[in-house]
Amino acid sequence: MKKWETKCSCTIYQILSGRSNSFLLSNEKRFILIDTGRKNSYKSLIQRLEGFGVNENSLIALILTHTHFDHAENVLKIKEKFKPKLYVHQTEAKYLMKGENPSINGTNYITKFFTDLFATDILQRIKYSPAKYDYLINDNYNLELLGFKACIIHTPGHTVGSISIIINNEIAIVGDAMFGIFKESVYPPFADDPKLMIKSWGKLLDTGCSIFLPAHGTSNSRELLQRQYDKYKKRFGL
Ligand SMILES: [Zn+2]
Ligand SMILES: [Zn+2]
Repeated sequence: MKKWETKCSCTIYQILSGRSNSFLLSNEKRFILIDTGRKNSYKSLIQRLEGFGVNENSLIALILTHTHFDHAENVLKIKEKFKPKLYVHQTEAKYLMKGENPSINGTNYITKFFTDLFATDILQRIKYSPAKYDYLINDNYNLELLGFKACIIHTPGHTVGSISIIINNEIAIVGDAMFGIFKESVYPPFADDPKLMIKSWGKLLDTGCSIFLPAHGTSNSRELLQRQYDKYKKRFGL
């Protein structure tokens, strides 16, 4: 299992990988889970969490980077099992409460063709178990109160309420604000508002982070993100 350590003794484990990544933050005493993956990964997720000694007392928070089904399908079950406080951006609470997906558009010819034809229909059909949030995120949320040198920032564009978790200004967990699947590109195949997403890349580059962990694929370097930001900034006239 991949892991990263920050200078503030926070460890980030990539607890699920494959089609959707999920990350576990640990400060040695407590844990925060970020995203929950697809429902067919539920068993492995639980086994791995229990392998770390995660229980009702130690899992203090579950943060959803956004409310697409491939991140949220196990939320209700994890909430019921470990009772963490659930954090989501305020603009996506309505989706979570109904088990619905925020809208997306294709960002290239192929995915655009696909979403123009099917996206609304398919996204409406792929529902997940609704869950109730405990805390709503607005722009920024400091996680120091929970004992982690980390904060949540709003990085919209892929969806309206996409958020990223910045750990000690070193490592960012970014959900689908970028992808880590293509070699020289971080540009996701789907986004609700691509221009806004590029602005969010700028926000992420304003942090001191050098590693960006997406929910699909492997980590992106700051250098790659900067190159992509410069390229798309021009393309979108920003
Ligand atoms: Zn998504
Ligand atoms: Zn996703």
